[in-house]
Amino acid sequence: MKYSELVDFYERISQTTRRLEITDLLVGLFSKCPPDLIDKIVYLTQGRIFPEFIPLELGMGDKMIIRSIAQAATVKESEVEQLYKTTGDLGKVANILLSKGKKQATLDLFSFSQKKEPITIERVYKDLEKIAKAQGPGSQEEKIRILSDLLRDASPREAMYIVRTVNGTLRLGVADMTILDALTITYVGSKDARPIVERAYNLRSDLGFVARILATQGINALKDIKPMPGIPVRPMLAERLSDPIEILKKMNGKCAAEYKYDGERVQIHKINDKKIILFSRRLENITHHYPDVIEFISNSISLNSYIIEGEIIAIDPDTGEFLPFQELMHRRRKYDIEEAMKKYPASVRLFDIIYADGIDFTLTPYPKRREFLDKVVKENDRVKLAEQKIIENVEDLEMFFHEAISNGCEGLVVKSLSSESIYRAGARGWLWIKYKRDYKSEMIDTVDLVIVGGFMGTGRRAGCIGSLLLATYNDKNDTFETVCKCATGFSDEEIKNMRDILAPYIIPHKHPRVESRITPDVWVLPAIVIEVIGAEITLSPVHTCGLNTIKKGAGLAIRFPRFTGKWRYDKKPEDATTTDEIIEMYKRQLKKLYEEVEVTS
Ligand code: ATP
Repeated sequence: MKYSELVDFYERISQTTRRLEITDLLVGLFSKCPPDLIDKIVYLTQGRIFPEFIPLELGMGDKMIIRSIAQAATVKESEVEQLYKTTGDLGKVANILLSKGKKQATLDLFSFSQKKEPITIERVYKDLEKIAKAQGPGSQEEKIRILSDLLRDASPREAMYIVRTVNGTLRLGVADMTILDALTITYVGSKDARPIVERAYNLRSDLGFVARILATQGINALKDIKPMPGIPVRPMLAERLSDPIEILKKMNGKCAAEYKYDGERVQIHKINDKKIILFSRRLENITHHYPDVIEFISNSISLNSYIIEGEIIAIDPDTGEFLPFQELMHRRRKYDIEEAMKKYPASVRLFDIIYADGIDFTLTPYPKRREFLDKVVKENDRVKLAEQKIIENVEDLEMFFHEAISNGCEGLVVKSLSSESIYRAGARGWLWIKYKRDYKSEMIDTVDLVIVGGFMGTGRRAGCIGSLLLATYNDKNDTFETVCKCATGFSDEEIKNMRDILAPYIIPHKHPRVESRITPDVWVLPAIVIEVIGAEITLSPVHTCGLNTIKKGAGLAIRFPRFTGKWRYDKKPEDATTTDEIIEMYKRQLKKLYEEVEVTS
């Protein structure tokens, strides 16, 4: 299949942000695609060549790409650099320089036409794969050679998209869920099969895999998909409530409550009694950050193959007490792991089992899963099961909550004991409810917001980015909606470094998935999530979060937002607090207000 057909699709899709239109365009593309190519097309549409959890990167920085463009267009590197400075987009640079080169070549050759074969998607994919796999001495030259050859054979328009794929700036804004919709429509015809497709995706976290099975074996083959050690499962997530009475009501009067540890969620995979791999909440392979966790885990679980979930927590080496989440982020480094291990020792609390020696536990109710976990884990001072209590009344729930807080936890995760309490991979639902500490009674709960813009500071912050435009995630429309401008809570150091922190994400215009009525000084690609606490939620004429939901023309805003100090690098932008959650919080706040008014009057 010609790469130009994919480029036509890229061009059309970048002109719309409407989900239905995007779905139609995807269906058009997938329908033309041979079954053995579909996985590659899906990856390329996501701007990558492998599923997210495979840690193979193309490994070409700007400098190497500049050299490749220079070689392909037979111009000096300085000319490429100069143009890059003015356009800010290496893809555009490739397009401009190769167009010039091609015109010249046509003139030089006059009418002697030596027409080249158009490049295919297979060729582009194969070359990108070779670039990713080139490693070791001489690999830089090898990567540059492959890319420059590919660019030389491509049309200028194709070269633009190849370069954007290589430097990670393709950013079409196509959400995973939209791709699932389009795959279902293309290969099954009806949307009824969507839950089967989504479940397979949640268990394998790999859209290319789902597409390949659908295209080559059909929907029935997808029904049989099970979790597989070595491939991360999309994590089950909790809803939130802050009133113990409501929580118990939602759980029909009885539930299990577990400590909510303030650490990093981890999915532990053991493959055939050999390798142990750790995946983060956002499915990155984090094995190399925690060699100590691997060691003490391997001695305490008596299974050959498994997928078990838990929370890694930092502990104070002197007292053994839990340290806050932020301390654990020191372990997220490439070098000096040994030193970090000594300085920030880790411990793990296990809370769920997804797979064990051939058995898929995702459809088993929680009490049975926990019972099994109990049986197979031999606890030691570093590996334990999450502290748990069966609760049947509000007083016990409150007592247990305070116990968790005083033991250094964030609160509780309250879990359903019903026969329907399956492991719902990839879903946020009421089978789990998080009950977190309110920092101060007048404040709302913390929220996780996505940075979408920055404003230049004044006074002491002159010359720096002094405040941020923050957004919630609207999971219905797959957009990011602004909810506040946040300037407080950042350390001087953070303000000084803010431009560097944001630099890889600064874009020349508003991202198509961002809904904003405000124009910041710099636009930022929705990528970084931070935790924020505010005083209350108010109606807002300027912010777009939940626009028109509560009142026509008004959105919702967080008043007096303050950064709590937590950079949530473990969260993707789609894991941020949703617009619906903010709407719920606003309604709850109103309800509380009415109740207070009633009591006092
Ligand atoms: P948060 O930002 O509150 O950590 P989250 O969006 O990462 O939430 P949620 O599912 O909403 O995830 O909240 C549950 C989170 O709490 C899990 O992702 C996990 O990291 C953590 N956690 C700590 N202890 C437990 C436990 N016992 N059971 C389940 N999750 C736990």
